Amino acid sequence: MTDTTTGGAFGGLTIDFGGTAADTEAAPVEAPEAVATGDPVTARIVIVGAGPAGLTSAIYAGRAGLDPIVLGGHEPGGQLMLTSEVENYPGFPEGILGPELMARFRAQAERFGGRMIDEAVDRIDLSTRPFRLWAGGLEYRADAVIVATGASAIWLGLESEERLRGRGVSACATCDGFFFRDRDVAVVGGGDTALEEALYLTRFARNVRMIVRRDAFRGSRILQERALSDPRISVEWEAQVAEVLGETKVEALRLRDSRTAEERTVAVDGVFVAIGHRPNTDVFRGWLDMDEKGYLVPDTTTASRIPGVFIAGDVDDHRYRQAITAAGEGCRAAIDAERWLEEQGVLTADEVAEVASSMPW
Ligand SMILES: Cc1cc2nc3c(=O)[nH]c(=O)nc-3n(C[C@H](O)[C@H](O)[C@H](O)COP(=O)(O)OP(=O)(O)OC[C@H]3O[C@@H](n4cnc5c(N)ncnc54)[C@H](O)[C@@H]3O)c2cc1C
Repeated sequence: MTDTTTGGAFGGLTIDFGGTAADTEAAPVEAPEAVATGDPVTARIVIVGAGPAGLTSAIYAGRAGLDPIVLGGHEPGGQLMLTSEVENYPGFPEGILGPELMARFRAQAERFGGRMIDEAVDRIDLSTRPFRLWAGGLEYRADAVIVATGASAIWLGLESEERLRGRGVSACATCDGFFFRDRDVAVVGGGDTALEEALYLTRFARNVRMIVRRDAFRGSRILQERALSDPRISVEWEAQVAEVLGETKVEALRLRDSRTAEERTVAVDGVFVAIGHRPNTDVFRGWLDMDEKGYLVPDTTTASRIPGVFIAGDVDDHRYRQAITAAGEGCRAAIDAERWLEEQGVLTADEVAEVASSMPW
């Protein structure tokens, strides 16, 4: 499939990502059990997730001679496939389209031997080594695993919202606030994330209109006070977004009163949906440590509580949530995995020497 959402030809690179940009959440697994599904595919390292974190891990693991397999799930390329212009990823002074940036990550990972399989992991067994993972009806066995399954922004679920994503609809003020200098924007949500996004957007926007479904915020008192006392922030209480209006870019919102169902239209240039994120961790439940929201919690560095299983990117990071931080963690996880494999004797001394001699330093 080659369209602007799931892949395509960018800057001379033609990458077929396959898959769809659909839901990235795997079904919950209660009691993982081994089921033979044919000959297992073996690898020294399997990377779960093909966003900035997973693909950076693949670049490093590939260059370390580990021949990684990347299981990319339902959204190969990750969250940046849902956006247009990315202006804060270093190395691209003119900016770059999200899908093009991810096509470049993928091409670089493939150049060093990364094998891309756009299937979602739906079952795992981390009780013994090699670890076992199932995806697309096949079993994969790996000496080490990097989990880089990211987190998905929760959207309103409107057709108009999906159509105008990257054209004024966003889920990331840090990423896209800059594009709304002296414009009018709306932030949907009433929790801490929405309040933080609204306050951040006052650096750029002329007016920030918060759309809150109830008659009160859910966020912390201090953030509420800061938002309510900011002259650039106004609040539409008890209002829900019925439709995002605009043909090729956001022009207005059709709001519905939560009590009376009366509708009204407010003009805005951008909409930031801030109703939460959901980490893609269901399949790891019971195996890896999680916080109360389901984000993975690394043990030390990028290591999980299971030796040989490493964690990288938005799947454990609900603070920074940026492509560069995810890529940085992907690098750290691959280096940690490589060192661990070396300690286990999975990488032989000859292989370590060979990899070292191929490095430019
Ligand atoms: C609208 C929007 C705009 C953004 N703009 C910017 C920006 O301008 N600059 C910036 O730095 N950041 C931006 N971000 C944030 C950035 O996209 C994320 O921080 C980054 O993508 C996180 O990378 P990741 O690899 O950790 O996870 P993700 O990008 O979420 O990738 C997760 C990967 O895991 C896969 N996966 C999930 N479950 C499974 C499974 N069970 N089996 C196999 N694979 C699985 C998915 O298919 C996907 O390939 C934006 C985010 C959004 C939503």
